[in-house]
Amino acid sequence: MSTKTIRLTGQLYQYLKHHSLREPEILHRLREETRRSTDDPEMQISPEQGQLMHLLARLIAPRKVLEVGVFTGYSSLSVALALSPGARLIACDVSQEWTSIARKYWSEAGVADKIDLRLGPALATLDGLLAAGESGTFDFAFIDADKKNLPLYYEKVLDLLRPGGLLGIDNVLWSGRVANSRARDKDTVVIRKLNRQLHADERVWLSMLPIGDGFTLAMKKL
Ligand code: CA
Repeated sequence: MSTKTIRLTGQLYQYLKHHSLREPEILHRLREETRRSTDDPEMQISPEQGQLMHLLARLIAPRKVLEVGVFTGYSSLSVALALSPGARLIACDVSQEWTSIARKYWSEAGVADKIDLRLGPALATLDGLLAAGESGTFDFAFIDADKKNLPLYYEKVLDLLRPGGLLGIDNVLWSGRVANSRARDKDTVVIRKLNRQLHADERVWLSMLPIGDGFTLAMKKL
């Protein structure tokens, strides 16, 4: 019983995983391949966060999903496995190399036809969607990309979300650096600023979850 969030020791974190994780075999293999084939497997979300996103996707039953930052496709596959027939996920990334791993697993999982990969700078893709009149049409979105453009991604994705739509933003605790005043690197400063802005943003309902590297959920107000 507590009025604050429990602190996860290593032992407790193992307990949490043992008593909640149901990572599908294909996602497990994707995790392993990412660990072997990329320099920075830490860019992949944690399996419990993937499972949360899967559950959220089941809850929302979105028709249109947007992902900014695909990497090797763990989050997009977690969500795509929850999508109903006819639903579509637009996935933005700049890396042909990393998304080729993603595409392989999307195909194997039978969800490739649900995912529309847009290779190129995400800001241009988002501007293209806005110009095509897709504002207010997405049900669910996830931002997990370069931090430099995070404020712009947030504004554009919020515009693309429908009222009542849900946005998840990854890495909002940034390995704890956001709370360390000595950390002054550019990415930390940007994330800290966005967290402050989100806290004050009256356009959304908000919850910051200490899962993975910190995951903020922002629901666009009705
Ligand atoms: Ca991330």
